[in-house]
Amino acid sequence: MALLQISEPGMSAAPHQHRLAVGIDLGTTNSLVATVRSGMSTVLQDDHGHALLPSVVRYAINGEVIVGHEAQAQQSADPANTISSVKRFMGRGIHDIVDRAHIPYRFVTSQQAQSSKMLQIDTRAGLKTPVEISAEILKTLKARAEKSLGGELVGVVITVPAYFDDAQRQATKDAARLAGLNVLRLLNEPTAAAVAYGLDNASEGTYVIYDLGGGTFDVSILRLAKGVFEVLATNGDSALGGDDFDHRIYCWVLDKVREASKNFVPLNEEDTRLLLNKARQAKEWLTDNFEAQILCKLSTGTLVDVTLTAPQLVEITEHLVTKTLSPTRKAMRDANLSIEDIHGVVLVGGATRMPHIRQAVEDFFKQEPLTNLDPDKVVALGAAIQANALVGNRSDNDLLLLDVTPLSLGLETMGGLVEKIIPRNSTLPIARAQDFTTYKDGQTAMSIHIVQGERELVSDCRSLARFDLRGIPPMAAGAARIRVTFTVDADGLLSVSAREQSTGVEAHIEVKPSYGLTEEEITNMLKASFASAATDKKARMLHEARVSAGAIIQSVNLALKNDGHLINNAEQQAIRDEVARLEAVAQADDAHAINQAVEKLNQATEAFAAARMNASVSLALSGKAINSLEM
Ligand code: ADP
Ligand code: MG
Repeated sequence: MALLQISEPGMSAAPHQHRLAVGIDLGTTNSLVATVRSGMSTVLQDDHGHALLPSVVRYAINGEVIVGHEAQAQQSADPANTISSVKRFMGRGIHDIVDRAHIPYRFVTSQQAQSSKMLQIDTRAGLKTPVEISAEILKTLKARAEKSLGGELVGVVITVPAYFDDAQRQATKDAARLAGLNVLRLLNEPTAAAVAYGLDNASEGTYVIYDLGGGTFDVSILRLAKGVFEVLATNGDSALGGDDFDHRIYCWVLDKVREASKNFVPLNEEDTRLLLNKARQAKEWLTDNFEAQILCKLSTGTLVDVTLTAPQLVEITEHLVTKTLSPTRKAMRDANLSIEDIHGVVLVGGATRMPHIRQAVEDFFKQEPLTNLDPDKVVALGAAIQANALVGNRSDNDLLLLDVTPLSLGLETMGGLVEKIIPRNSTLPIARAQDFTTYKDGQTAMSIHIVQGERELVSDCRSLARFDLRGIPPMAAGAARIRVTFTVDADGLLSVSAREQSTGVEAHIEVKPSYGLTEEEITNMLKASFASAATDKKARMLHEARVSAGAIIQSVNLALKNDGHLINNAEQQAIRDEVARLEAVAQADDAHAINQAVEKLNQATEAFAAARMNASVSLALSGKAINSLEM
């Protein structure tokens, strides 16, 4: 839509209409949805008043898909069909899962899973990918939000750990698409937390976001200057969280039980789940109490009855607390900062409620951390604020978030070495180009292998994609000049292009990471999920068509009003005729016809758009519009 691209800064499509937008924290352990209501970001609750939706999906016997508390309660009874912490598997292949023996699901082994490299879990409802399982969680939150807000959502912001690589981000987007959500932006969780705390309203400062959730640890350092966030560094451990504390307590309990009973029978899956749940409850209880009793009966008849005190918990989990400090130190080093440079520390994630975590963070940074917002809600609250701004509900539409690449991006050169093109912690969006040349005389094609990671050898990095540049004119080795450009957008997603400079031959790839779903797989899944909801889909298409028709009519009218003088009267009239035609068509229930009329209006305004573009460029060059161009 050429015309829309140059609409005035700060002009939203429909200024008086509140557009429904939500922020979603798709967590490993718990997921939440929040929205901005009368200027306040609020978490939306379900019918029972729960804000947190446990990220647990159960495929029940009657074919029903159960999500949340009910699924969590049934977990020990039906472990193989009740999937929790699925976020750990997002964008991952079977070979990435190291301790498969400890996970109660039936993973499909590589021979079985030939059609797709993505990990699959065999459930009673058939083979399920982590993307499909996550989509169930998103669907539940979508339904909650639409019920609570009384309308269809225009868009969502979904948060991801700062440490997520390309494959994991893409998988998250795929899940949203399957759930029928329009993703406005993926946002790093720590950045969302900073927004929730309103750190963007402070004048200046450097902040640390320490996020210990159920399954991941992220530490990020954000700098705020003139209302703009920049993520200076991110680090973390994608396999460290509250779950590990539960596991530690579980092992401690087993030791106690084994000490007490001579002939202790090994645990089955059900007992393991049961004890892990008990361990979690004890851990959470000990945040505000001195001792916790762990009492339950195993399926073998063994009675477990042990008491854990708060000091004991501190003692047996001290190494886990310490483990969070090493990524913290690394992030500080990457950002080239010392403790004195930090203006505030924000705690995020349910596990940061534990007093000894708070103490460790305080000791490390030599200052008391910020905790006045609920640590497990803060990410969703910030995502909602961002979503609200992105759909244009805010008049001061100037919230600009700069994020960084979590890992370096590069390509393979001769000898299996990695040449880094975009170093880690570069601010996004970013584009970087580098020139390469041919290796052999007369070489006419070049294979480009894109990798992500910090190591020097390709074999130690994650392979993202490959493509070929063909049609290079035969030249002596080293004579051709091939410019490879890496572009990472605001969501952290990568595209790469290669161009031979003398002939202009070009090749381009949107990086679909390995373990991402193919376009065909997504289409098939969408077909399957829409089969039962064909009417919904039709209604949505009509709704979307009308929304975009409304937006374009509004911006064309505005453009004619402001810049109509750039074209002659006949041209103006021709555009007005198309606007009138589109307005008429938009009344009818035919999405296709509306889209066609939108397209015709776009065509009719092409020359006008070019004239406006020229006018705005010359205005900018003359220096008059510099302020309005700055963000
Ligand atoms: P995630 O971001 O991984 O979805 P959350 O931020 O919801 O996770 O944190 C979940 C973790 O927080 C779980 O391990 C849970 O046991 C822990 N947690 C929640 N409340 C408390 C509490 N009161 N004390 C200690 N840990 C808690
Ligand atoms: Mg979280």
